Amino acid sequence: MADFDLFVIGAGSGGVRAARVSAAYGARVAIAEEHKVGGTCVIRGCVPKKLLVYGAHFAEDLDDAAMFGWDVPTKQFDWQVLRDNVLAEVGRLEEAYTDTLTNHDVTIFHERAELTGPNSLRLASGKDVTADKILIATGATPVMPAMVGIEHAISSNEVFHLEKLPKRIVIAGGGYIANEFAGIFHQFGSHVTLVNRTDVILRQYDQQIVDRLMQISLRKGIDFKFHATIEKIERRDRALHVTMTGCDDLEADQLLFATGRRPNTNGMGLDSAGVETGEKGQIKVDSDNRTSVPSIFAVGDVTDRIQLTPVAIREGQAFADTFFGKTPTKVDYSCVPSAVFSHPPLAGVGMTEGQAREKLGQVKTYTSDFRAMKNVLAGRNERSLYKLVVDGSTDRIVGIHMIGPDAPEILQAAAIAVRGKLKKADFDATIALHPTMAEELVLMR
Ligand code: NDP
Repeated sequence: MADFDLFVIGAGSGGVRAARVSAAYGARVAIAEEHKVGGTCVIRGCVPKKLLVYGAHFAEDLDDAAMFGWDVPTKQFDWQVLRDNVLAEVGRLEEAYTDTLTNHDVTIFHERAELTGPNSLRLASGKDVTADKILIATGATPVMPAMVGIEHAISSNEVFHLEKLPKRIVIAGGGYIANEFAGIFHQFGSHVTLVNRTDVILRQYDQQIVDRLMQISLRKGIDFKFHATIEKIERRDRALHVTMTGCDDLEADQLLFATGRRPNTNGMGLDSAGVETGEKGQIKVDSDNRTSVPSIFAVGDVTDRIQLTPVAIREGQAFADTFFGKTPTKVDYSCVPSAVFSHPPLAGVGMTEGQAREKLGQVKTYTSDFRAMKNVLAGRNERSLYKLVVDGSTDRIVGIHMIGPDAPEILQAAAIAVRGKLKKADFDATIALHPTMAEELVLMR
């Protein structure tokens, strides 16, 4: 008999869910984690990032307070206070995740585990273990390009631990992390320059919504360098000199690379077990999360399907339900909502207008371009934009895209309508909830 029914490698969102639920179904489960229980999302991703976003938003809220009658005499930001509070909260969550596992009798190995065969692993301490099933949930890691001086740059792993707030920060990339941290550092008072290899940012989002973010970001004072590439980084005195092609060289106090993440599969013994990987090192799996080796499975970012926490959690749950809960379950990837926590945030679900025009014959779009009430009174000239993409032949809403305060909060509920195949007529028939921003969704004609 194997030591465990299930051995999970990686205690992030997908791994913890699979381990906990499988154990609840009665399986003997172990999990190995070489860093901290909680994984990227909890330790150095979504959670601490969102707390920084909240912290950053006070900059505007305190400015706006005056028009609402509040006298806020001085506004001073202390990075160390926010950083330490955020890290303390991360520590609390790490303990909560650990407790969840131990309460379900999951054995935790706080060390690296590598495959030695289809049913065997070796831990960093040298201990060998066996398991009927192995689940790889090792996530992904930031890509740091090979270039002279790259050791002077940081990734999103280090950004939560900075000693002090940079006066000038250069951010490479035009995706989620670049735009979120551009907003965060700008609100904290840093001068932000975002460098991107093309002039398209947030490629997978509706471009009209993205254009609005760009207009707002430019007006706020975030600098964009498009069609620009970083060639070399040097430390000169206490600043960084960044040699560029496509624009003038840049001087900065910090340089953050946010040019994507690659699956964490290096040195994991995949070859010795016979697990097949793809071009980016991602583990190839079927719709049951099974790899090319029947006893080995993988979920989450390491499979490079959709790199989002809730997707990894669904995959972990589906794995546990299927193999330990006797309820075969497959994840539906067709209607995954997502958001960028920029300033202001944007969110989307379903097809963008571009995708719909390519895929469907007849497409109608409805937009609402408005200034949130709060912004009007505050004198803040920042407009929101909501967009419905409708299949012209069936009246079905196939996409909803929005930018503005609380857009992700609103979109989560709206995503149910898209998944439920509701029609534009259903939105029209719904009475508005006034006064809200969300009411715009049912008032577009
Ligand atoms: P993204 O994939 O979002 O963006 C990568 C950016 O880097 C793109 O602008 C891309 O350009 C550019 N890029 C890629 N390769 C290179 C290169 N070799 N040289 C120069 N530029 C390059 O990655 P992030 O690092 O921002 O985030 C990683 C993942 O983490 C995301 O895909 C997302 O799944 C997840 N995430 C989700 C968040 C959320 O849900 N709010 C928040 C943060 C991360 P191009 O478009 O031309 O390819």
